Amino acid sequence: MSNFKVKLNKIRAFAFDVDGVFTDGQVLATENGDLLRSHNAKDGFAVRVAVINNYPVAIITGGSSESIALRFIQIGVPKEDIYLKSICKLPDFEDFLKRHNLSADEVLYMGDDIPDIGILKSCGVSACPADAVNEVKDVCQYISLYGGGKGCARDVIEQTLKIQGRWADATEAYSG
Ligand SMILES: [Mg+2]
Repeated sequence: MSNFKVKLNKIRAFAFDVDGVFTDGQVLATENGDLLRSHNAKDGFAVRVAVINNYPVAIITGGSSESIALRFIQIGVPKEDIYLKSICKLPDFEDFLKRHNLSADEVLYMGDDIPDIGILKSCGVSACPADAVNEVKDVCQYISLYGGGKGCARDVIEQTLKIQGRWADATEAYSG
């Protein structure tokens, strides 16, 4: 079993970047200035399962659109765990740890670009999508086989809950 899988046993919470993780990184700029993003339902389901099973999930993004917050509120993430306009991300990550009484090594973080490196270097399990930038891949313990917007968040949540023996029970209510 890889070191990555062993480390997943310790994970009690997740934190994610948005653009390039829950999306493929593209934003559709509309005439009124809104930015539209396409999310993956498989990722959304995994986030919902994690939250319901008492794994706090933080969303830490440089994006500012309220639509980002609404998307994650709809799948169960409390508003206070959604950090928009997070340019320097590490202080927001530390705020999340403090509010949930977590240590950094109990959190898996996934990001795809340079603003994520500070958190990736300080969290317990650092992960990135298959199409993350090279600087991020260089510091990550795990590179998903799935790209941004293609199920990479689902990948790490599912692997974590499975290795902890929680996935089957956590998803049973949805499988009937
Ligand atoms: Mg990103």
